[in-house]
Amino acid sequence: MATIERIELFQPDHVIVAVGATRDAPPIAGKDLNHVFDGEQLRGLLFGSDVEAIKKLSIFQRLILKIGRASQLLRNVKALTMLSKIWMPLKKNITIIGGDLVGLELAEFLIERGRKVTVLEPSSSLGPNLSIVRRSRVVHLLKEHGATLLTNVQINEITKAGVLYEHNKEAHLAKADQVIIAMGANPNLDLANALQTRNIRSTAIGDCTSVGYIHGAIADARNAVLEMDDLA
Ligand SMILES: Cc1cc2nc3c(=O)[nH]c(=O)nc-3n(C[C@H](O)[C@H](O)[C@H](O)COP(=O)(O)OP(=O)(O)OC[C@H]3O[C@@H](n4cnc5c(N)ncnc54)[C@H](O)[C@@H]3O)c2cc1C
Repeated sequence: MATIERIELFQPDHVIVAVGATRDAPPIAGKDLNHVFDGEQLRGLLFGSDVEAIKKLSIFQRLILKIGRASQLLRNVKALTMLSKIWMPLKKNITIIGGDLVGLELAEFLIERGRKVTVLEPSSSLGPNLSIVRRSRVVHLLKEHGATLLTNVQINEITKAGVLYEHNKEAHLAKADQVIIAMGANPNLDLANALQTRNIRSTAIGDCTSVGYIHGAIADARNAVLEMDDLA
């Protein structure tokens, strides 16, 4: 983990900061309930780095994940894709809050693993950050497999029973065994700013400057390197 103190030890001429976005769930009432996870927590479960998220699991679930981590299987994408078709610490009925790129891709992943999925998107469109072709493909696949996809939804609260929301001025409950919040990706310039205050020359690239796509991050990286060549 790169910290300002560790970076200083290297006495670098230039630092490229590519730490990605932060993914913190928005302040929805009930987001700390045991059956609610956000993107960071799901990742923390896989890699064992989020103690609070791990506490939300049953002893059996913790044990299985511990074995997976100890065997390094969870670090292998192919193995993880295959094993997740057999078992995941997620129940049958899942509501995802957020229907952009992350929410829709997660919904697709879960539908392929036999889960019943509802996606609640506060804005008026699903997957605005997906390419048109990818968006129509994923939306079509989700609908074909019985997912419920709703836009213009006002999220009121997460309860033990599911998600309370308003749609077309009517109150509803999306019943759910588990709720996943797939919203709240933000740029993260903390490290870049800290470097600046210590007068260490740096360039921030990719999602830490502005949440986007792989090609944007690669273009940033290319430009950063070209600019460094100019400085040499
Ligand atoms: C679910 C999902 C699906 C996506 N699908 C697509 C897609 O299909 N096509 C597409 O173009 N884009 C997609 N994206 C977006 C794409 O992943 C990002 O735009 C891209 O990965 C940004 O690259 P990055 O290098 O800036 O950040 P990241 O890829 O997020 O990498 C940042 C890395 O820095 C590490 N890090 C953070 N802090 C520190 C620290 N202090 N010290 C050391 N390391 C640190 C992190 O652990 C991480 O490994 C998707 C994103 C998500 C979340």
